[in-house]
Amino acid sequence: MASVFSDDISIDLGTANTLVHVAGRGIVIDEPSVVAVRNFRGGREIMAVGRKAKSLVGRAPESMEILRPLRDGVIADFIATEEMLRQFIKRTKSMLGFRRPRILICVPAGATPVERRAVYDTAVQLNACKVYLIAEPVAASLGAGLPIDEPGGAMVLDIGGGTADIAVLASGVIVEARTLRCAGNAMDEAIIRYVRRKHQLLIGEANAERIKIEAGTALASGNGRAAEVHIRGRDLRTGWAKSAVLTPKDIAEALSEPVDDIADFTQRALEELPPDTLSDIMRRGIHLTGGGALLDKLDVALTRRVGVKFHVQRNPMHCVVKGSAAVLEGLSEHSHLLMRP
Ligand code: ADP
Ligand code: MG
Repeated sequence: MASVFSDDISIDLGTANTLVHVAGRGIVIDEPSVVAVRNFRGGREIMAVGRKAKSLVGRAPESMEILRPLRDGVIADFIATEEMLRQFIKRTKSMLGFRRPRILICVPAGATPVERRAVYDTAVQLNACKVYLIAEPVAASLGAGLPIDEPGGAMVLDIGGGTADIAVLASGVIVEARTLRCAGNAMDEAIIRYVRRKHQLLIGEANAERIKIEAGTALASGNGRAAEVHIRGRDLRTGWAKSAVLTPKDIAEALSEPVDDIADFTQRALEELPPDTLSDIMRRGIHLTGGGALLDKLDVALTRRVGVKFHVQRNPMHCVVKGSAAVLEGLSEHSHLLMRP
C-alpha cells in the first residue's frame, strides 16, 4: 500500500542553492543553502533556513550565526545540513500533504561515504518510503537532455558554489565521475584577493559575488556583456571607506586562477577516459551546467584552455534537479545510475 500513496521528491542539495522538485508539480523550492542559528547556553537553535536565513547576512544580532553548512567542502557542518534538509523536506511534505514520499537526493560525485550516509539517514528519519542518492553531474547529464544511452558518451561539467563536478556517461553507464573543490566560491575569493592586491581594498564575499555576477567575465577580449564596475570597500592602509573601478580585463585576470584550475581538472578527467570515449567527447564537446556556467565567456575560456568545445546548457541551474526527477520517474531503467548510501 505504501507505494500507492507515495509521491516523488527530488532534491538538489547544492553547496550554494537547494532545489526541490515534486513529481507532477515541478520545482517547489529554490533557496540558498543557508542556515541561521542562535547560540545559547552552550547549545544552538535553528532560527531560519534558506532565503530567510540569507537575508540575515550582515544584519543578524551578535548572538546569531549565519552558516553555509555545505560551503567549504561537501558537508562542513553535519548538524546544520541535516536540519536544513529536514526543514525543506517538511515544508514540501506539508505543502502537498504527502504520505510517505520516495526521495532522491543529489550529492557531489566525490562525497565521502560519511557524507553520503549523513544525507541518507536524515531523509530516512523523515519518514520517507525510500531514499536514493545520485551523483550531481550524473543527474545533470540527464537534466541537460544528453544522449547518455548512446555508446558515444556525453560529458558534463557542473560548476556550483563549492564544487565543480564532472561525469562522463556512455551506453547508459557512468564512465567517469569526479569532484574538484574549486568553483563559484573560489571565483569570489579570487576577486577579493585581486582587489586587495591591486587596490589595497578590502571587500566582503557578498560584494565579490555581486561583482562576479554583474560584471564578471572569463575573457576580456571581444564584445561581451561585461562592463566596468564600481566597487566600495575598506582601504587597507587608512581603514577608511574607498572606492575603485574594475574593468572586464581586471576581472578576467582575477578569475584566471580558478578558471585554470577548472580547466586542469577537466584535462585530468579526459586523460582517464578510454580512447574511443575520449575521441567521441572531443567531437561532441563538454556540457556546462550549474550556476558557474553563467559566468560570461566561461565556455570560450575553457574551450581555449582545454582544446575541446564547451556548450552552456539552457537553465544550467535547473539541470541537476530536473535530471534527478527524471531518474526517479524511470527508476527501473535508471537504477544502475544511483549511488550507494
Ligand atoms: P550549488 O550546486 O553548489 O548549490 P549552483 O549551481 O546553485 O551551486 O551555483 C551557485 C554558484 O553560481 C555561486 O557561486 C554563484 O555565485 C554562481 N553564479 C550564479 N549566477 C552566476 C552568474 N551569472 N555568473 C557567474 N556565476 C554565477
Ligand atoms: Mg549543484
